[in-house]
Amino acid sequence: MTKTEKILSNIGVRPTEMRLKIYKFLKRKKSAVSFSDLKKAFVQKSETNKTANRTTFYRCLKTFEEKGLIHQINDGTGVTKYAVTDENLKGKYDSDLHMHFHCTDCGKTICLPNKISEEILPHDYEVSEVNLVLKGICKKCK
Ligand SMILES: [Zn+2]
Ligand SMILES: [Zn+2]
Repeated sequence: MTKTEKILSNIGVRPTEMRLKIYKFLKRKKSAVSFSDLKKAFVQKSETNKTANRTTFYRCLKTFEEKGLIHQINDGTGVTKYAVTDENLKGKYDSDLHMHFHCTDCGKTICLPNKISEEILPHDYEVSEVNLVLKGICKKCK
């Protein structure tokens, strides 16, 4: 079993070819990938059974999200983006407690490596989602 197959199996996701491909694709990227770019890469227009293919693609993203393998990022550009969730950045509610950085120059959005403290919330509040985006210039564009 490959490393990626193991990661998927460990959380109860059967490592099909499409799933492995999508996960590896996202994992390789240093920045978040937009939904349309993902679709372009995985749903081939020329294929005769493109509807089935598209359904598999949508289902795969949904499964990954439900299992916490990837997360959606809303960076204010109006485009839905996805990134692989770093295991170490998960909070106690299994939510993804980190901020994102959006470069206004190159348009890339990345996950920041530091976890947001859960102590910023008063008692009896529960975080299920974090949607914090810092904007500025990334080190490459600087
Ligand atoms: Zn940049
Ligand atoms: Zn992120």
